Amino acid sequence: MFLSAQAYLEFPSFDTYEPDASDVLIEEAVPESEPVEIPVLPRINYDHPLAPRLLSHQIERGDTLGRLLTSFGTDERDINRIVSCRGECRKLHRLIPGASLTARLTHDGRLVSIGQSLPYGQIREYHVYSADIQITTSDVERQTVTAYKHVVIREGESPISAALRSGGIREATVLRATQILEYDIDFWRNVYPNDEFEIYFDQIFVDDEHVEDGNIYALHFVNRGKLHEAYLHTDGLHYEADGSAIQKQFLKAPLRYKRISSNFSNARKHPILGYTRAHKGVDYAAPRGTPIRATADGVVSRVTRNDRAAGNFLVIRHSNGFDTRYLHLSGFAPGISKGTHVSRGSTIGYVGSTGYSTGPHLHYEVIKNGRHLNPLSVPNPSIESLEGTQKNLFLANVENYLVSIERLREQNLIVEPVAVAD
Ligand SMILES: [Zn+2]
Repeated sequence: MFLSAQAYLEFPSFDTYEPDASDVLIEEAVPESEPVEIPVLPRINYDHPLAPRLLSHQIERGDTLGRLLTSFGTDERDINRIVSCRGECRKLHRLIPGASLTARLTHDGRLVSIGQSLPYGQIREYHVYSADIQITTSDVERQTVTAYKHVVIREGESPISAALRSGGIREATVLRATQILEYDIDFWRNVYPNDEFEIYFDQIFVDDEHVEDGNIYALHFVNRGKLHEAYLHTDGLHYEADGSAIQKQFLKAPLRYKRISSNFSNARKHPILGYTRAHKGVDYAAPRGTPIRATADGVVSRVTRNDRAAGNFLVIRHSNGFDTRYLHLSGFAPGISKGTHVSRGSTIGYVGSTGYSTGPHLHYEVIKNGRHLNPLSVPNPSIESLEGTQKNLFLANVENYLVSIERLREQNLIVEPVAVAD
């Protein structure tokens, strides 16, 4: 659910709205066949507590009009009128996934208007009067403005709340941005105060209203001082600055091993316990003391010594719901404890034979959302890095993005509030 009214707060020129219904409902019905004049809606200060709120939601498959209006907080009488309306109004019932549904509500939940943006720049608007529902379908001029925003995350904020506070970025856009970088950054657990992001993207305006966002051309996210970058290629996908695939793979193996002494299986006879049970990982035979590497960036979520079965073991939590577990270690690498950030390839411990173990080996598990996967067939992202002419084209685009960002960055600094010394 993406609710956003904040995007409007950045237009300080809006007149103050007086809570008088006649102000809002100035529009006449327009005959369907005539070329439609774009109605002039009153300029509204959405900051005013009694002003109509404008809510919008990017329609997803399975959404229904009734449910969306309910989630907006619409008065039930108006929901019923819209849901049961006849004639032309029924067109509104067909929700188009990806399009935006917007609704203006009075402070007490009465519907003022409802609209759905259609493909190719059309907006279908329905104005709700006390007596009936009037409809205008208009070719509205959509204006695309390429914008730059710089957001610094404060204590206790998520990237989404920080973006909404800063204004000018829609929630759905922040969500898209986090999905682009989700292999690098765990946005639910590992975002910190003073992390910051820059986004270079298209804002789409209709009648001076920021109705939705388009392409995200460039994305910079500084997470604990480390810069992560993503740039849009002409294939519609995002890549790192050098054209390499942004979706990271797990290291093929957590160590240099001699052989795989036991494979992942759902049932096998345990060499010590004697009975048959699933083997939820892979055993790598290697000499005692062989360094073990974290297979992906993450945070150590558990360090346990002398567990009866697992011996010395540790668990790393990664982004995307992945955990990896490393069992039977002889010891842990210096500095490894619960909460330690580890990067892909860094040494976390050493091969041993602690716990239930017949000889020096590493038992390694990969878990996704609580379910064990075969570490040898962890689904690898199918996206390839760019090569050849595609890569050259991409690098040229990145160059252009960066030049534009540099220019916009200076402008952005002017409008950012600056602390002034007394
Ligand atoms: Zn094992």
